[in-house]
Amino acid sequence: MIPFNKPYMTGKELWYVSQAHANGHLAGDGIFTKKCSSWLEQRIGCRKALLTHSCTAALEMAAILVHIVPGDEIIMPSYTFVSTANAFVLRGGVPVFVDIRQDTLNIDETLIEAAITPKTRAIVAVHYAGVSCEMDTIMAIAERHNLLVIEDAAQGIMSSYKGRPLGSIGHLGALSFHETKNIISGEGGALLVNDPCYAEQAEIIREKGTNRSLFFRGQVDKYTWVDFGSSYLPSELIAAFLWAQMEDADSITRRRLDIWDVYHKNFEAVEQREKIRRPIVPPDCIHNAHMYYLLLPDLDRRTSFITAMREKGIGTVFHYVPLDSSPMGSKWGRKSGTLTQTQLLSDQLVRLPLWLGLEESQAEVIQHIIAEL
Ligand SMILES: *Cc1c(COP(=O)(O)O)cnc(C)c1O
Repeated sequence: MIPFNKPYMTGKELWYVSQAHANGHLAGDGIFTKKCSSWLEQRIGCRKALLTHSCTAALEMAAILVHIVPGDEIIMPSYTFVSTANAFVLRGGVPVFVDIRQDTLNIDETLIEAAITPKTRAIVAVHYAGVSCEMDTIMAIAERHNLLVIEDAAQGIMSSYKGRPLGSIGHLGALSFHETKNIISGEGGALLVNDPCYAEQAEIIREKGTNRSLFFRGQVDKYTWVDFGSSYLPSELIAAFLWAQMEDADSITRRRLDIWDVYHKNFEAVEQREKIRRPIVPPDCIHNAHMYYLLLPDLDRRTSFITAMREKGIGTVFHYVPLDSSPMGSKWGRKSGTLTQTQLLSDQLVRLPLWLGLEESQAEVIQHIIAEL
């Protein structure tokens, strides 16, 4: 059986967790949390990185930070994970769904301006498969219309756009360390603050609406309830686990890219026979091999492909059900224009196994796939 995903462990996770245990500091914001956030700040070049217990939590923090109020509109693709929209709907925001590009499956930046109304507050740029959205255009639109840009870089750690790491370009960014992502802690995430005006308030929101972080740094002499907030910080045990992964982030990414490249080379001939389409990475983007997918001709072909792979013991999956067609998305959100590419591509996409250790059986996986196409 070759599963779709298998979380990779570097071997040092439990050693660091045992150190956190020995330190006797189990709540958040200890030594390991600091190591992880400094690493993110250095590698990504963001003003402040705050570990959270998920990317979902980081997106919720972003919605609180930018003061989303009922009726505010947030532009985003429909082809994304529920948390992209849910974080804003929780505050009464209205997701406005825009179609995706045929090549990257990212939001089609040429359709964003048509979706803007006087109620628009923000654009969420979801970097699908760790391949960047067209950020120069998106940032220029945002500036022209005085909107905020929040990067959902859940899949984008170690990727870049024109040399700039994903998550460092918008006003805010969000990462995920869920076990299905590249760098993992089981559940986990981070909020990346680029616009300095949000740095202090982000700490407060994450610490139950208190100015506890300022207090610990000696910047205020007592700590108290000063703003909205919740508990968004992970325990030191999670940060300790995550630190082992961050230390190996370069080699993890390199090895994933090798697997990705092997798929890509092997499916070239099948693509030329027009049986499938392979992922497209624009020249301005360096990706992190978060995902390898194929686009099959239609829904029927995809369904039979996934069934055939299952029979051979190979786990392949599809996602997403476009949010505009979901019960919650149709109730709380609205579409801007027709989402033609979203509908088409979401029926065609299938994700192949991609995890460290797959190298040994990848040739066999590819053989089975090509035989089925
Ligand atoms: C995984 C993912 C999320 C959610 O991440 P969690 O850490 O599981 O909350 C959000 N957006 C996108 C695009 C994702 O892929």
